[in-house]
Amino acid sequence: MKIDIDTGSGFCFGVVRAITLAEKILKEEGRLYCLGDIVHNNKEVERLKNTGLEIIDHDQLKQLNNCKVLIRAHGEPPETYEIARQNNIELVDGTCPVVLKLQQKIKNKYNELKENSGHVLIYGKKGHAEVIGLAGQTGNNAIIVESLEDLDNLDLSKPLHLFAQTTKSPETYQQIYSEIKKRYEVENPDTYLKCTDSICRQVSTRSPRLKVFCKNYDVIVFVSGKKSSNGKLLFEDCKSVNKNSYFVSDKEELDKKWFENAQSVGICGATSTPKWLMEEIAGSIKKLH
Ligand code: SF4
Repeated sequence: MKIDIDTGSGFCFGVVRAITLAEKILKEEGRLYCLGDIVHNNKEVERLKNTGLEIIDHDQLKQLNNCKVLIRAHGEPPETYEIARQNNIELVDGTCPVVLKLQQKIKNKYNELKENSGHVLIYGKKGHAEVIGLAGQTGNNAIIVESLEDLDNLDLSKPLHLFAQTTKSPETYQQIYSEIKKRYEVENPDTYLKCTDSICRQVSTRSPRLKVFCKNYDVIVFVSGKKSSNGKLLFEDCKSVNKNSYFVSDKEELDKKWFENAQSVGICGATSTPKWLMEEIAGSIKKLH
């Protein structure tokens, strides 16, 4: 049976950057705090914990003093930087440069729009770390749009500027934009409604590539942490072109039955899936067979 790992799957550059920063400090100092899971993949988090990384939450951050804390690729709102300043905490900023740029754009747009009673909208998952960091740039005044239902209470007579969480699907983002435009209560919606394409290219280019990869195999094993938004989205892409697609987070979840009549298996994953984990899964499939 042929088993291939998709060369385009695995960590995006933002995640590689944050992990490289963490590994460098862990090597030199043997210990580092990280605010939230460094990546939405329990296996990778476990690996780094074993080298001295300690995951903390925001309540624990408030109790710390005189130490180093890593900010992961998702970024943080301004309050986190303020807590660090007050507690003499050195922040190791692993915020992805793409997210950092988006935070700045949202901040500028918010300041501009509030002069005209306009609103910043963010299409994203409520409570997601990146969205919290983005909304923080507007003093939490941005309106978070998770689905079309969230548009029902919008004031559609004011200027609006729409942004998206970097890992959202470009297609659903377009749907949200078109729906707002349709409902807009002004004569010329394009004058009042603006939209920034803030979907990360590391995500949007993966989807079409992944669909091509998945068509070439009898069975697809998609490897991702269960908390990864990007993982959920890309797995939907796998299923849309190959009905024999299975989602696993580690090798224990593999089922021998999936491979009974298969001549070929393709292994792929999310932007938060480590290469070593996909290789481990490939090895386990070989053994099962
Ligand atoms: S998906 Fe894009 S924006 Fe998000 S961490 Fe990766 S490179 Fe950065």
